Amino acid sequence: HGSGHFSNEPFTDFSLPENRLAMESAIAAVKTELGRSYPLWIGGKEAWSEERIVSINPAATSEIIGEVSKAGITQAEEAMQSALGAFQRWKKTPVADRAACLVRAAGLMRERKHTFSAWLVLESGKNWAEADADTAEAIDFLLYYAKEMLRLSSTNEHQPLIKLPGENNVLTYIPLGVGVVIPPWNFPLAICAGMAAAAIVAGNTILLKPASTTPIIAYQFYSLMVEAGMPADVIQYVPGSGAEIGDYLTSHPKTRFVTFTGSKEIGLRINKLAAETAPGQIWIKRVVAEMGGKDGIVVDETANLDAAADAIVASAFGFQGQKCSAGSRAIIVEDVYDKMVEKIVERTSVLTIGLPESNAPIGPVIDRASYKRILSYIEDGKSQGRLVAGGHAGPEGGYYIEPTVFADVDPAAPLMQEEIFGPVLAVAKAKDWREGIAIYNDTEFGLTGSFFSSDEGRIAEALQEMHCGNLYINRKCTGALVGVHPFGGFNMSGTDSKAGGHDYMLLFTQAKLTSRRE
Ligand code: GLU
Repeated sequence: HGSGHFSNEPFTDFSLPENRLAMESAIAAVKTELGRSYPLWIGGKEAWSEERIVSINPAATSEIIGEVSKAGITQAEEAMQSALGAFQRWKKTPVADRAACLVRAAGLMRERKHTFSAWLVLESGKNWAEADADTAEAIDFLLYYAKEMLRLSSTNEHQPLIKLPGENNVLTYIPLGVGVVIPPWNFPLAICAGMAAAAIVAGNTILLKPASTTPIIAYQFYSLMVEAGMPADVIQYVPGSGAEIGDYLTSHPKTRFVTFTGSKEIGLRINKLAAETAPGQIWIKRVVAEMGGKDGIVVDETANLDAAADAIVASAFGFQGQKCSAGSRAIIVEDVYDKMVEKIVERTSVLTIGLPESNAPIGPVIDRASYKRILSYIEDGKSQGRLVAGGHAGPEGGYYIEPTVFADVDPAAPLMQEEIFGPVLAVAKAKDWREGIAIYNDTEFGLTGSFFSSDEGRIAEALQEMHCGNLYINRKCTGALVGVHPFGGFNMSGTDSKAGGHDYMLLFTQAKLTSRRE
């Protein structure tokens, strides 16, 4: 039965010595596995390629995490053919069996939780708590979508039909076909597992093209699914270049859907390519895209200022600001503006930079391209606002950047408009709370937002006026929990999908009504 109890995987308390020890030994164990070569998986078989993608530790760029085979067009086409074949069997596998694979995978992941987190620490540069939350969310997605698909497939539970005498009417949710799944590097386990799990539990088969900076953690996920009993050809593991195989597969006539999480630019490109009808294509492709954000926190003069400052700093600098939910804007009313800037600077200046494996609060950004892009935003930002914290590259050896705060930024400036995806916070002054909300809404994105106030009337208005998919009151704007805060945003933040919510499975299925005269 599908609507049974779901509860979120608890986070690990690293203040307990036994948990610290467990994490340290998991990191040490994973370190002995670094530098290996990994194949593609096509049709349930290993395949190797000459060309490789080398994954490095962004915190210590000379450390190689591993290298994966890189699929070209020929292998992408083979993978497509395998996925098409596998679909004919997998779609007939009972939902209960498909769901059971996810549940077993969640159980195995829980047993090896710190090992998965250790891979995240080393490959993506997350500190312990960020990595632990990523692993916990992956477990949640596996269990949640398993239950969701069971719920959707239990007759009359999702949408009870009106009874017509003399007829037996049934609505079933059947899979779409072969999908291309393109997860991001910033939640390289949770979002990879979530998008893949939702697609396959519905009965689809997929081509999984992991982010090129985090292919090893995706490989660990693939292996886990096979160990959990998923037929090895239900997922094709095909790392490769977006411009090459990403475009090829998105445009492919046999691709039924594309699920993507990443930047606005790539999301729009996928949407455009997928909208073309290739010769031989007999459907309209479905695109599920979660894109960027320019999320913000509005603070009025009645707010608890310390709580607001804590939330602003946590939202801006958690995982170095590399979340689409990151609170990269703070909008503060005039009355408490100077006090708030001081509190934000105070909290930012104690954030030390260091190795994620030693659990430093601030680690590296993901790669050289990000590093350069963010530093150039910071340089340009010096003429858009008053630099009050950070502003420089961090220590050498990794892609470190100081957590940086600009105050007095004009709402129209690039710092307030463009997604930087790094540890850069822009603070703007509003004359009052209503103007604060207007500044908040002045964006092409609409993913997350927060409003800090103790005034019920204002909160009620903020709830109505702030236009974003995940709106929080008196708390940070990151850290959505599966099933608790279905996640996804409006406008240029994506296709309005809600990961970790009831509606998500509908995106991977189509409803078939059967009506039988008795
Ligand atoms: N769901 C995450 C959060 O609420 C963000 C996901 C993302 O950055 O893609 O913080």
